[in-house]
Amino acid sequence: MALHFSRRDFLPAGLKADQIALVENTIRIHSHSAKTAASCPHCGRISRHVHSRYRRRPADLPAHGRAVELVLLVRRFRCRAMNCSAKIFAERFPPAVTRPYARRTSRLQGRVRHLGLALGGRPAQALAARLQRPASKDTFLRSIRSTAEAASSELRVIGIDDWAWRKGQRYGTLICDLERRRVIDILPDREPATVEAWLRVSPSPRSVLISRLD
Ligand SMILES: [Zn+2]
Repeated sequence: MALHFSRRDFLPAGLKADQIALVENTIRIHSHSAKTAASCPHCGRISRHVHSRYRRRPADLPAHGRAVELVLLVRRFRCRAMNCSAKIFAERFPPAVTRPYARRTSRLQGRVRHLGLALGGRPAQALAARLQRPASKDTFLRSIRSTAEAASSELRVIGIDDWAWRKGQRYGTLICDLERRRVIDILPDREPATVEAWLRVSPSPRSVLISRLD
């Protein structure tokens, strides 16, 4: 059975492709939101009044041995609500596409997070370079921490484990939310005093059970 693709099939849902260009070793996919209107993030009112446009270039998953960059056309809309303080706002894309100010698409960010968790910062950095998507060691650590922040408010059961900053040489402590199976923080060493200090400043969990993960 023959399968037919449109250019949109290669993009995250909610985007339309305008043009695909190969620039040196990078595939640039020029695209824009499929929606004709946007809601003001301050008051929620829907606007169709486009004020201006600009471009963002989040990195996307590599393809066919080449880096991929989305060239996203972002519209600024006017908000006409009388008592809204935002006169102009930039449209937001669905979270599955990319976050505001993010340098990567959400699907690439997901891969970065998994690599960082599986390998640790420096090995993940080396593997990413081989996979056509160079990212720094700090990028992997930041991506894990940002997952962490979202989870830390309703902590009840945590687990701790060693985290290799540099395999065989330097270890930190990984703190996980065991109920949601998510990483919530990375501590710079594996001293019990550091974990105790973290518990004192963490968002006051009502009952915390600490278990070292195997
Ligand atoms: Zn508004």
